[in-house]
Amino acid sequence: MEKTDVLIIGGSAGGIVVGTTARKHYKDATITVVRKEKEGQVLVPCGIPYIFGTVGAPEKNLIPDALLSKNNIDLIVDEATSIDRQAKTVATATGKSIGYQKLVLATGATPIIIPMPGTDLENVFCAMKDVDYLNKLLKTLDGVKDVVIIGGGFIGLEFADEFRKRGLNVTVVEMLPHCLQIVFDEDFCALAESRLQERGIDLRTGAKIEAILGEKKVRAVRLAGGEELKADLVFMCIGVRPDTELAQKAGLQIGDTKAIWVDEYGRTSDGDIFAVGDCAEKRSFFTQKPSALKLASIATQEGRIVGANLFELRRRNEGVIGSFATIIGDSGVGLSGLTETQARAAGLDTVTGEVKTPDKHPGSMPGAKEFTVKLVFEKATHEILGGQVCGGSTVGEVVNVLAALVQNRMTASKVATFQYGTHPFFTPSPIPYPIVNAAEMALAKL
Ligand SMILES: Cc1cc2nc3c(=O)[nH]c(=O)nc-3n(C[C@H](O)[C@H](O)[C@H](O)COP(=O)(O)OP(=O)(O)OC[C@H]3O[C@@H](n4cnc5c(N)ncnc54)[C@H](O)[C@@H]3O)c2cc1C
Repeated sequence: MEKTDVLIIGGSAGGIVVGTTARKHYKDATITVVRKEKEGQVLVPCGIPYIFGTVGAPEKNLIPDALLSKNNIDLIVDEATSIDRQAKTVATATGKSIGYQKLVLATGATPIIIPMPGTDLENVFCAMKDVDYLNKLLKTLDGVKDVVIIGGGFIGLEFADEFRKRGLNVTVVEMLPHCLQIVFDEDFCALAESRLQERGIDLRTGAKIEAILGEKKVRAVRLAGGEELKADLVFMCIGVRPDTELAQKAGLQIGDTKAIWVDEYGRTSDGDIFAVGDCAEKRSFFTQKPSALKLASIATQEGRIVGANLFELRRRNEGVIGSFATIIGDSGVGLSGLTETQARAAGLDTVTGEVKTPDKHPGSMPGAKEFTVKLVFEKATHEILGGQVCGGSTVGEVVNVLAALVQNRMTASKVATFQYGTHPFFTPSPIPYPIVNAAEMALAKL
């Protein structure tokens, strides 16, 4: 039997960061990652859409295994099949038994396939994190013209935009009245939708697909109501389901969102077993209620907490804020924290402030784009709850600044006077600097 102090099941965003953090905190511990992907085959999950129009191949979108070897972390390529909690061992598909002191589950999540006729036809794909599968999709795209994407969330839209870069006719079918409606306020959904339409992507919102049609290969999709949309390829992108099979078989508690229950230190219902990333349940930073958010940024933050807590509780998880951005053409949209709609749904009384300004100064600077920021504050406490941003390539880092303001529960007055740096090429002008001015506008209403 092999033995290790720390055994991590899963070698993607969450698993890797647990390992590298554990190495910093517990220098002498033996650390082993067991994962299904062969050597050099772990994809950068967030880069997957960009394989199809920008980067060009799954092989150009990989996380280097050197991250493990440089940190003296052993790698076993295998599938963990069961956990014996009494013996503190994990069995694998190839017949290994690995003993552990502390076990971390970082098994991730799998795309949901909607149960409907036609999902087994050729040319029906989803966002699977698998190099061979994505190479098959890449090859198939060469022979198709009309693509229907089911699901107008941020991942569906990223694939839509990348498929469009290949010159394909792309239609996005979204059940809700707007694309991105689960994550943005309606005004920001409308901004994103107009960018998609400018890119030549056909949007069918408030529409539901009932069946995928075809003999062997996809021919069309049928919408509720009977309309058919021509399709040579269907890409399904309606969310993911946490991979909890191992945990369930081992009798670990499963949470309200069907992910593995964990406490604020990342411990499961067995104190020697931790869980991080898409397989682990999250709690909202704002309400402490279970949250279904699943992001690589969250998986790695949880990895930093659990990696430090393995042998001594050193870090506490305050709950997920939710911070991310996406790109449509050369326009970015992003969010940190709660939207106005989400805050109200959580029973919070809010005020907002919104500012539009060029993202460089003066606005005549080459490459300047219109930049919009909308901040949401809680009326009672004046604390910032969240912010939405639309602009160019700076959106990704601006949402991170907003996340820091939210995590530190800064009041509108503090946000209006926070100290920032500006430069004509990189930022809006210091005079109408959008974050502080949006806070001033909200303050005026408080
Ligand atoms: C197309 C796409 C785009 C995305 N874009 C973004 C983005 O821009 N920003 C963002 O923050 N998030 C993004 N996400 C979400 C992000 O990818 C996930 O939140 C992240 O991958 C979760 O990491 P994880 O380590 O928990 O799980 P995963 O990445 O799912 O990894 C799970 C690991 O567990 C292993 N495993 C599972 N079961 C076993 C077993 N029984 N034995 C051994 N190994 C096992 C797998 O082999 C794998 O190594 C995107 C996701 C997708 C699909």
